[in-house]
Amino acid sequence: FAFFCIWSAAAAEWPKYKDPKQPLNVRLKDLLSRMTLEEKLGQMAQIERSIASAEIMKKYSVGSVLSSGGSVPVEKASTEDWIKMVGKIQKAALSTRLGIPMLYGIDAVHGHNNVYKATIFPHNIGLGVTRDPELLKRIGAATALEVRATGIPYVFAPCIAVCRDPRWGRCYESFSEDPKIVQAMTAVISGLQGEIPTNSRKGVPFVAGRTKVAACAKHYVGDGGTEKGINENNTIIDFHGLLSIHMPPYYNAIARGVSTVMISFSSWNGVKMHANRFLITDFLKNRLRFRGFVITDWTGLDKITSPPGKNYTFSLQAGILAGIDMIMLPFNLTGYLQDASYLVKGGFIPMSRIDDAVRRILRVKLSMGLFENPFPEPSLGDQLGKQEHRDLAREAVRKSLVLLKNGKPGAEPLLPLPKKAPRILVAGSHADNLGYQCGGWTITWQGLSGNNHTLGTTILAGVKEAVDPATDVVYSENPAADFVKNGGFSFAVAVVGEHPYAEGQGDSTNLTLAYPGPETIRCVCEHVKCVVVVVSGRPVMVEPYLAGVDALVAAWLPGTEGAGVADLLFGGHGFSGKLAHTWFRSVDQLPMNVGDPHYDPLFPFGYGLTTEPART
Ligand code: BGC
Repeated sequence: FAFFCIWSAAAAEWPKYKDPKQPLNVRLKDLLSRMTLEEKLGQMAQIERSIASAEIMKKYSVGSVLSSGGSVPVEKASTEDWIKMVGKIQKAALSTRLGIPMLYGIDAVHGHNNVYKATIFPHNIGLGVTRDPELLKRIGAATALEVRATGIPYVFAPCIAVCRDPRWGRCYESFSEDPKIVQAMTAVISGLQGEIPTNSRKGVPFVAGRTKVAACAKHYVGDGGTEKGINENNTIIDFHGLLSIHMPPYYNAIARGVSTVMISFSSWNGVKMHANRFLITDFLKNRLRFRGFVITDWTGLDKITSPPGKNYTFSLQAGILAGIDMIMLPFNLTGYLQDASYLVKGGFIPMSRIDDAVRRILRVKLSMGLFENPFPEPSLGDQLGKQEHRDLAREAVRKSLVLLKNGKPGAEPLLPLPKKAPRILVAGSHADNLGYQCGGWTITWQGLSGNNHTLGTTILAGVKEAVDPATDVVYSENPAADFVKNGGFSFAVAVVGEHPYAEGQGDSTNLTLAYPGPETIRCVCEHVKCVVVVVSGRPVMVEPYLAGVDALVAAWLPGTEGAGVADLLFGGHGFSGKLAHTWFRSVDQLPMNVGDPHYDPLFPFGYGLTTEPART
C-alpha cells in the first residue's frame, strides 16, 4: 500500500505527457485529457510577439507566437538579443498550469531574412533555375541552423506556389511555373526539418531535433494561379487543373514530413480557401493523410467575409469547421477566445473538431522535442552569416543566374569578360545596393534600399574583387552619355531592375524596369560594349532594349552574396541556369505558360545560354 501511495504521488507529479520515454500517442492522449476548453483554444492561437507579454501568455495559455516582417525587437538585434526575447516568452508559457511550450514562428523565406547579419539566399525564383534539389537541402539546413541559433524553432517556409503569372507580386517566392520543378525543390523541407526516416507513416510531421526547424508549406492551394496575377484574388480552374498544376508540390511536401501547411488568402472558384472544407479536411487531411497542423495566413479568417472582420464569429466557425487548426490572429486574441468559446459551448463547433486541432498542434510540438528542449539553444553559438553559409549562398547565386543573350548577331560572345582591362564601367541603380539585391522579405516586410541594413557583398563589390588589381573599376550610378562616351572604357556592366516589394504591393500590370533603368541601358550600351544584369523578382519588360545590348543576364534577387554574380561575369565559373518561368515579350500576352496553345515568349521556359569557365 505504501508503495502504491508513493507511486501514485509520483505519477501525479510527473504526468505521462512529460515523460519522453512514453510513446508519442500516449503522451498526446494524456495531455489532451487534462486540458480545459480554454487551454485548448489558447493552444490554437498564434499571436504577434509585440503583444506576447508574460501576462498574456500565462493568462491565455497561448500556443504560438510570431514575428511579423519588420517587427525586429531591436534594430540590428544580435543572436543573444533574439535568444533572450524568445526565451522570455517561453518561460511565461511554461509557467502555465500544464506547462505546454509555445512554438515561435518567423518568415525565414530566403535565409533568416528578418535578422541583421544573416545569410540571405536568392529568392525562390532564382533557386528554381538551379533545378538542384541537393543544393536546396543544403540551403534548408543552413537556414535551419541560423534560425535555431536565434532561439526560433519554426519557419513559414517554403512557399511552394506555382506562379503562372509574373504580374503577381509574389512571383519571386515561387520556384517555377512548372509544378514538376516546384516538386523537386521541396527538398528544402528535408534540409529545414531533417531527412524523414524511411519507416515513417505517411503524413506524420517530422523534425530531427535541435538543429532543425518545423517547416510550413504555403499557401494552400492555388495562390500562384489567381486571375490577372492579383494577390489574394480568385483562382479559376477546374478540379483536374488544380490537381495537375497547383496541388502536386503538396504531395512531395507531405512525403517529406512537412510539419505545417498555411492556407492561402486566395479563393478557388469563388470560395475562400480559408473556408474550403473539401480541400482542407477532405483532401489535405483525409485523402493526403496530412497529420501536422493547418495554420491560417495573417488574419486569414477575418478575410472570409467582406469587408474583412465583418461578422468574425461566422468566419471563425467556417474556418475551424473547414479544418483550420491554428489561427494566426495575430492581435485579436480576446475577441477570438470569446467567439470560439461561444461557438463550442453553443454546439456550433463540435468538441471533436477542437480536439483534432489541438492534437495536431501538440503532435508537432511533441514530435520536434519541444517539451524536452523548449528553450533557445545557446550551444549552437552564433550561426548568423557564417562563412560556410555565405559560400553556399554564393554557390546558389552562381547556379541561379540565366544568361539570356551573349553577343549581338554575328559578333563574338561578350561573356566571360576579361579580368584584365585598363578601365571598365559599372553603372546602374542596382549595382551597389544590397537592399535591392535582396528584395522583399528582407529585414522588413517590403524590403529596403541601400547597404546599411545588413551585411553582404554588392555586385559592384563582387566585380572589384573579381578583376585584376590593375583594372580600373569606375562606378557611376546614373552616368551621363558624355561620361560614358569619353570615358575610355573597355566594356560596361549595367545593373538595373525592380525596387523591392512584397505581396500585393508588388502586383504590377506593366512590369517595367524601375527608373532610370531604361535610360541607363540606353546611354551605356550606345557607347560601349555592355552586359546588362537585371535584378528583379520576375521576368520584366526587356524586349525594347534587347537589340541594343551585347549581353543580358537575369540575376533575379540574389541576396547578400553579390560576388556570385561577378563569378559568372568574369568566368570564374560558367553560366548553367535555365529559365523556370517563361519570359514574355509584352504584358498583353499574360498569363502565358509553357504548353499554352499560343506560346510565343521572348525567351521560353527552359532557355539559358552556357559559358565555360575562363582559363586562368
Ligand atoms: C503572408 C505569409 C506570411 C505571413 C506571416 C502573410 O501576410 O501571406 O506568407 O507567412 O504573412 O508573416
